[in-house]
Amino acid sequence: MVFGYDVQASLAATAQLVNTLPLLSDSGDDELKTMTQLDDFIRENRYSGDRTHSAAELEGVRSIRESLRALWTTERTEDLIELVNGMLKSSRALPQLVRHGPWGWHLHATTDDSPLADRILVEAAMAWVDVIRSDEVERMRICAADDCEAVLVDVSRNRSKRYCDVGNCGNRANVAAYRARQVSGRLRDGE
Ligand SMILES: [Zn+2]
Ligand SMILES: [Zn+2]
Repeated sequence: MVFGYDVQASLAATAQLVNTLPLLSDSGDDELKTMTQLDDFIRENRYSGDRTHSAAELEGVRSIRESLRALWTTERTEDLIELVNGMLKSSRALPQLVRHGPWGWHLHATTDDSPLADRILVEAAMAWVDVIRSDEVERMRICAADDCEAVLVDVSRNRSKRYCDVGNCGNRANVAAYRARQVSGRLRDGE
């Protein structure tokens, strides 16, 4: 495994959250508009801690998505470091070892009663600390499909993941490549 189990899980959750943004999502619409969508996301990714189920909570989580997306789109390392440190600082992150759910001992840097958006943001920042420290930023990519901007986490052994999990980008690219080969074949054959 490239990263620790908990780190990998939070990177995947962060990518999933970013990919709910309009234009990045499969539907093209904002896929985090309702409390039900938030509940599903939280349950699926087994975030711990308190919930208020208020409009402010939903809005909070919606509003951190662009900052989280910037983790993938920031190109200069210095800028990325500044972004991650800024996230940790503004949420006054204080790392503590905790254990819950299926995970072994891992770090939380917020408390269970911190706002949900803060907890998600800080957890993402902590996971990115690992990514940067282990010099694996290259694994954090934007989907290679021409018409897709979704973010992805490549945890494959040979660093070969190019397409997101959002739409069907990998298959679409294969089909397009196949058609292109057929067309160029026909052109060669003088059809
Ligand atoms: Zn945890
Ligand atoms: Zn894609």
